[in-house]
Amino acid sequence: MSGTTIPIIPAKATTAIEGDGMGCHAGGETLLAAAKSAGKSEILAQYAADYPKRENAGPHDQPQSMCPAFGSLRVGLRMRRTATILSGSACCVYGLTFTSHFYGARRSVGYVPFNSESLVTGKLFEDISEAVHAQADPEKLDAIVIINLCVPTASGVPLQILPKAINGVRIIGIDVPGFGVPTHAEAKDVLTGAMLKYARSEIMAGPVPAPRQARSDKPTITLLGEMFPADPMLIAQMIAPMGLAVGTVAPTREWRELYTALDSVAVAAIHPFYTASIREFEAAGRAIVGSAPVGVDGTHDWLGAIGQATGVAQAQIDAARNATLAAIRGVLSQQKINGRITLSGYEGSELLVGRLLVECGADLRYVGSACPATPWNAHDAAWLKSKGVQVQFRASLENDLDAMREYRPQLAIGTTPVVQAAKEASIPSLYYTNLISARPLMGVAGAGSLIQVINAAMGNQHRFDQMKDFFGSVGNGDKAGVWEDVPKDFPDFRKEQRRQLDKQAKKRKAEEMGS
Ligand code: SF4
Repeated sequence: MSGTTIPIIPAKATTAIEGDGMGCHAGGETLLAAAKSAGKSEILAQYAADYPKRENAGPHDQPQSMCPAFGSLRVGLRMRRTATILSGSACCVYGLTFTSHFYGARRSVGYVPFNSESLVTGKLFEDISEAVHAQADPEKLDAIVIINLCVPTASGVPLQILPKAINGVRIIGIDVPGFGVPTHAEAKDVLTGAMLKYARSEIMAGPVPAPRQARSDKPTITLLGEMFPADPMLIAQMIAPMGLAVGTVAPTREWRELYTALDSVAVAAIHPFYTASIREFEAAGRAIVGSAPVGVDGTHDWLGAIGQATGVAQAQIDAARNATLAAIRGVLSQQKINGRITLSGYEGSELLVGRLLVECGADLRYVGSACPATPWNAHDAAWLKSKGVQVQFRASLENDLDAMREYRPQLAIGTTPVVQAAKEASIPSLYYTNLISARPLMGVAGAGSLIQVINAAMGNQHRFDQMKDFFGSVGNGDKAGVWEDVPKDFPDFRKEQRRQLDKQAKKRKAEEMGS
């Protein structure tokens, strides 16, 4: 044997982002730190400012919503002549495509896959670039959206150095990590804001294409937020006496509508969380108006705020109010909601629905929203609080469930897990997204449609009572499901496992203190 010594090379420590299978379960802090050290500090700082988290948040004090990237994906998929491509772990992409098609995307979702090697060697970026070049056909597309999910963001895949356009097709690269964008609602803003920024730079550089549909000869108001299709028409009727028209609803359905959205006299932030988009509208010199025309008070205040923002004479504001408020009062005087309600959701429109419920006579105790407090929902929050309603921004599931237990409502409106918990407790419930968001909210139609659905749901209490009487406690908790024999409880097993876990935790703590 020769005298040479084989050198010992220390094993490379695995980082948080190497390999697949990271993400939701890897711990937000780890991924955040990795992303910052990989060159994403600036965009993450912007997200932290735009989408503030709850102060002193504990592990459960944050909203639990679906993967945030769904918001951006949905906005891209709803636009004509726009391709949307995801870059992320296969499991994330599977979930996101599944959800998109569940919600009727009827469009392909592009995907650039990666593995540990392509991620850490920089090959993933080259693959993305190749995919974008291959797709950039100006005959078919106005824009390509490419979305970095958690792992590519954490490993710093630099979408920002993609060309701004290829063959005249605009390229929009955005990072939408779950550890930087708290909700899918706000992820809609990430893409909408990026598109508005791009469109604004095009307007500043020279003439841009006209909209496909004829434009109104009146000054227009842009409506910000996805809403029920009838709502823009209802709003248009309400503002017509002020000599105003509804222009575009943003997020838009095609690229050139972005130009018309920017070319308005004012922007109605119907959904209050579009912070990046509002930044672009403000940069274009547009006035922003929060809240929405819901109920008598809400419509009165909103019409006044729109009139002021657009310099309309008081007589015209009064004319608009007179034309609408009497009709809303009429609807509200004919029917009432009688009952105690708690309300929660992650759409961003929860406070507006809350206002309408109070005006319809409901004894509303709690409104929880996964979205943050912003200047555009401050007025609604103050109004609700003045009526004795508890308002919780950035509400977690635990907040919503606590409110339901505390207030024992006759109807719980909420997200899927809230509705499930309500059913278990024999409380009639309505799923916010499918049953409340999917109906008009504004003006006369809003008041009428909400009262009907709420009263019908509250009228179901006797059915819950009958079911409870019939089934008793069968199928509760661990016994839920289909079994040949009723599962036996083994409390001793659980006790012993808990004891061992506590022991392990104590040992770890002692080691940490000693080290
Ligand atoms: S992209 Fe979405 S699903 Fe994937 S790890 Fe991030 S938050 Fe989770």
